[in-house]
Formats: sequence, structure tokens, C-alpha cells
Amino acid sequence: MDIVKNIIKYITYPTELRLLGRRELLLSYRELQEKQYRSLEENCAEQRKLLYDILQYAIKNVPYYKELANREKIKISLDTVEKDLKKFPVLTKEIIRNEGSRLFSNNNIPYVMSTSGGSTGEPVQLRHDKTISLFNTDKYFLSFAGYDIGDKIMLLWGSEKDIFRGTLGIKAEISNRFIQRVRWLNSFKMDEDKMYEYVGCINKWKPKVIRAYIQSAYELAVFIKKNKFVVHSPSGIVVSAGTLFPDWKQLIEEVFKCPVINQYGSREVSGIAISCPGSSHLHCNMFMNYVEIVDENGRETIRGEDGRVIITNLQNRSMPLIRYEIGDIASVPEEDSCGCGRNTPMLGHVKGRTVNVFRTRTGTRVDGEYFTHLFYGKEWVNRFQVIQKDYEKIEVYIELQKGKEPISSEINELKEKIRLVMGEGCKVKIQYKEKILPSSSGKNLYTISELKD
Ligand SMILES: [Zn+2]
Repeated sequence: MDIVKNIIKYITYPTELRLLGRRELLLSYRELQEKQYRSLEENCAEQRKLLYDILQYAIKNVPYYKELANREKIKISLDTVEKDLKKFPVLTKEIIRNEGSRLFSNNNIPYVMSTSGGSTGEPVQLRHDKTISLFNTDKYFLSFAGYDIGDKIMLLWGSEKDIFRGTLGIKAEISNRFIQRVRWLNSFKMDEDKMYEYVGCINKWKPKVIRAYIQSAYELAVFIKKNKFVVHSPSGIVVSAGTLFPDWKQLIEEVFKCPVINQYGSREVSGIAISCPGSSHLHCNMFMNYVEIVDENGRETIRGEDGRVIITNLQNRSMPLIRYEIGDIASVPEEDSCGCGRNTPMLGHVKGRTVNVFRTRTGTRVDGEYFTHLFYGKEWVNRFQVIQKDYEKIEVYIELQKGKEPISSEINELKEKIRLVMGEGCKVKIQYKEKILPSSSGKNLYTISELKD
């Protein structure tokens, strides 16, 4: 028995949350665990009520929605709320930029600023309520891989913060080490030496679960297999930020001898869906987001058919997002239920979140996510694309925001940070484009490596 785990689960972690005034985090974790096994009817009824509440709230308190509802004569009732929702136009990133503060609630709700993820290479600024416990879905999602509070976690994750600012604050460090029990391996700069070191770290720490970027987990699995290393087998590996190709999943599962769990989420609306060990379909985080899959004309797709992912966040009130187009493609699976017994709406595969891995001549691999992070908060950028032409040649295409000029200090910083990982000798060329065209899949592939193996 893991005594440390029980001490953390029953004493230290609840105490930490109480001290931070965040006890609701633990409550929501337990609540979500229970609710997922209720009947689908019961869960959908609760979701419908949340949907009704957020739409009513938006119409009453958010200028953009108030005007929209007046103009379009939108009325909402609890019985028809799913139909009523469709009267709202799809909320694009462009609308968010144009409407600006008219999308904020008139009520003074404490919030934090957040920048959207770079899945389409068009970051936007958003507000998130400070108090939303459900926004913190990390632990709930980890439980799909067999995690429980107090278990050891290993992150194979990248953060540019680590590269630029050294270490975390001391409080966070203590909490991470002794309460969250997280050990962290930086995936942004992985060469063979680092990967060798990381295998040792995993074997020493023996985590219950590993959380990783899809690409990094795959790269590490390839390395382990190639070298015939023995690696500790966790109860599951949760991967995110990218497309989980079936052959990648198979290889990671073969090497680590455990299921690979596919997590789909975004900074804008938090965790959207996650797969379970027995299925490749994803369970929606249904009390957080209401998910629609629609075709080009905004109509619901038939089961099994690809469509645009449209999200209505059910919790955030400082800036409600109603029918927000997240920029991904997914489908609704043919089956209605899952063998694991969790009763939630489900998604089939999710496409279009592809990132590339860049390589230096010395063999260091840099996850494409690193580059997308560099554009967070740069309001003068409308769209971007980072392309590796050769080992020492990176081209950055930028489509400027209307009426905005590039900020030279930020451009210099951008170049510097690219050289930091790609090497001092790397030439970074910035090109301004009138329009960055989407790739043939209809999505902007925002980081592309043209290096041939
Ligand atoms: Zn399931």
C-alpha cells in the first residue's frame, strides 16, 4: 500500500486546498467521478439546465448577446434549449476580435486573462472566471488512466517558461513535489541524451500515470524500442496536443505496456473530451462544455461524418462563449454507449490539431507547440505559420491584424527564442503575408517542418 498516497489524499491535499480557499476543486473532482456513471438521460437533463442557464445569463448580461437576441428575436425555454441554441450564429475568432469588450459580462466577475491555444494559428484573448473549479479538469481526466489523488505523476511536457525563466516559484515547487507528486521532463528539447536520461527518470520515479504531448510520447517510445530499453509501465498515459494516429497509439502502448488515453482540450474552454482505456472514442466533459459537430452550412452532421467542432462553454460567465468555433474537425461516433459504463455524449476521432516536430542538425527535437506558444498575447498577429526549411533555416509567415503594426521588440524576442532552441546559427526570416492560406485539409497547419528524414 502506498502510505504517502493516502496521507496526501486524505490529509495534505485537502488541507492545501482549504488553505488556498479552493476546496471546490476536490468536490468537483469527486462529483465528476460519480456523475459519469449515472444514466445518460439524467446527465443530459443536467447539461440542458446548465445550457439554459448560461444562455439566459448571456442574453441578460453580455452586450453582444443582448443585442443579438433582440435583433433575432431569440427566446429560450428549457424544453427547447438545444433547438434555441442553434439560433445563435457561430462565434468565430474574428467576431471575438471585432466585438472586443462587448463580449464581456456587465457583472464584475473576477477573471484571469487567457490566450487561446494556437491550433489554428490565430490566438485570441479571453477572460476566464477565477473561481471555476471545473476548469481544472486535469485530475479528473487523469483518472481515465487509473489515477487517483495522491498518485505519482510524470509530465513529459514543454513549457517555454522553464527555458526562459529557470525554475518555478518555491511554493509551487514544494506543492508539485510533495503534494501533487509531479515530476516533470521538458519535452521541448529532446535529443538522444535527454531521452536516455528521461527513461532513467521514469524508471526511478515509477509514476502511476504519465501525461505527455502526443508527439513527445511517440518520439520517446520510438527511442526506447530502437534501443531495446526496459521502461516502467504506468497504469496509463494521457496524451494531448496533437493528433493521435492509430499506429502511434499502438507503438506507445506496446512500449509502455499500458493504454494510451487521448485527451482533447483547449485553453479557451478547458478539457473537452477524453478517451477511455477500452475505446478510441472520446467521452465529453459534458458539464463543462456543450459540443456540436456541424457541416459547412452549420447543420448537424450525420453520425460518423466529419464536421466542425462548435463549443458552448457551460460554466464561464465573465465571457460566455456560445457556439464558439474552435477550429478542429471531429465526428459523432455511430455508437451511443461505451463499454466502460461512463454515460456521456461521445466524439469519434478529432482531427486537425497537427503539430510538427522540428529538428536541429545535432538531433535535438523541438515540439511544434514551442513555436505556437511564442505567439500567445501578440495582438498584432492575426495568423502565423512557422516553417522549418532546413536545419538552420526557419521562415515565419505573419498575417497582421487589421490596423496593427508589428512591434519590433517582440519580433526580436521571437527570433531570439527560436534561435534559443534551434541553435545560435539558425537564420530566422520573418515574412508578412496578406493572407495565410489554409492547408488542403481546410486547417492552417501552423508549424511545418519540411526536413526530410
Ligand atoms: Zn468509455
